[in-house]
Amino acid sequence: MASDGSHSFWPIPADAPAKDDLSRCVHCGLCVNACPTYAITGLETESPRGRIYLARAVDEGHIPLTAAVQGHWDLCLQCRACEAVCPSGVPYGRLMEHVRAQVAAKPPTGGKMRRLRRFGLRNVVARPRVLAAAVWPVRLWAAFPLRGLLRRSGLLRKLGRLGVIESQLPARLGRPFRPGDATPAANPGSAPIVLFTGCIMGEVFGDVHRATARVLTRAGFAVEATVGQGCCGALSAHDGDLEFARGLARDNIDALERTSPATIVNNSAGCGTALKEYGDLLAGDPGYADRARQFSARVKDFSEVVAAAGIPAGRFAKRVTYQDPCHLAHAQRVRNQPRALLGALAGISVVETPGGDMCCGAAGLYSLVQPAMSASLRTRKAEQFKKFAPEVIVTANPGCQMQYEAAVCEAGIQARVMHLAEVLDEATGGGRTD
Ligand code: SF4
Ligand code: SF4
Repeated sequence: MASDGSHSFWPIPADAPAKDDLSRCVHCGLCVNACPTYAITGLETESPRGRIYLARAVDEGHIPLTAAVQGHWDLCLQCRACEAVCPSGVPYGRLMEHVRAQVAAKPPTGGKMRRLRRFGLRNVVARPRVLAAAVWPVRLWAAFPLRGLLRRSGLLRKLGRLGVIESQLPARLGRPFRPGDATPAANPGSAPIVLFTGCIMGEVFGDVHRATARVLTRAGFAVEATVGQGCCGALSAHDGDLEFARGLARDNIDALERTSPATIVNNSAGCGTALKEYGDLLAGDPGYADRARQFSARVKDFSEVVAAAGIPAGRFAKRVTYQDPCHLAHAQRVRNQPRALLGALAGISVVETPGGDMCCGAAGLYSLVQPAMSASLRTRKAEQFKKFAPEVIVTANPGCQMQYEAAVCEAGIQARVMHLAEVLDEATGGGRTD
């Protein structure tokens, strides 16, 4: 039974995709060519319009939720490129999260893998101490003196998927950066900012957080990584575990409410989108709906804050390409600020590659669960990198950074993969990163 009392064909009627969202699609097809999975397969069922059509057919009871239907939804990257170009304002991201929640409740296929994934997201990724322990062997491997030699020899590429995962690891893993860690001293009277540290971002990309804090301090802010915050819940929501994602959202609201009205700054596009959409996620929770909306209104991407505040003049004499993280460009519609910040650096040459805003295939856990499609999208990026030969590939999301590390290996080029914050930090004075 659906919440309005009508019969529902979904396994969890309370979390069913909203009929209003489904009916907004007028099948115009303007989204089709923006879709990465359609670009690779050319199949209507792997396009946004096709996936919405299937969801509507299940919603209206015309077709059952079969393994084939699930497969078309599973292949979606949730990159939201379709949402950004849709003239009818179909909230595709929200729609797909609710569709995934239904699949997760009663998966026609792949139930075991799904349960394993859910276990990992709930019990490893969302638990800081367990995550730190899980990352520890990766950290040891990243520091292994012969790793570079093994990589160059091509031996690691022979390990199949394991080799691909290895090639996604950054050249070095800096120290983690966690809530409560020290931030640079700020001038008295500086406006306070809360740095959102996240889960994997803080464990694997601690150097990016440190660079972010330095740049924000140079931009005139007092940065604090407030204790009590944790995983944003984006990976769980994308995987259809909405209830768990809601719990994480409530925890973050409880932890960061007392820092109001300070801006909450994040430097991971996926987390940023989730935080900006807590209002949506908790809309049905009377105790949190208003608080979630207020929380979301305080969230900004790093580039939005720095572009508005300004930073000291910097120099970065490199040939650079900026690759939009999907959730920054399509979900948050932040495209100009990173480019403006890069373009203002002396000596820089910024090249735009065709498809620079098309998904790289990282998409949260996508590269693990849909390795073939993820590899096709990575190869498209690798081909562009080979052609345009950038010295530095800049992005603003941990998953994208890892996918570009692998694309650089695949292209066989010498290029650094950097977060925008690292570029701006290096350009304006740098600092200790270890
Ligand atoms: S652009 Fe929007 S309305 Fe048109 S087919 Fe795509 S989702 Fe539907
Ligand atoms: S979210 Fe991305 S992959 Fe999924 S339908 Fe939209 S454009 Fe295609």
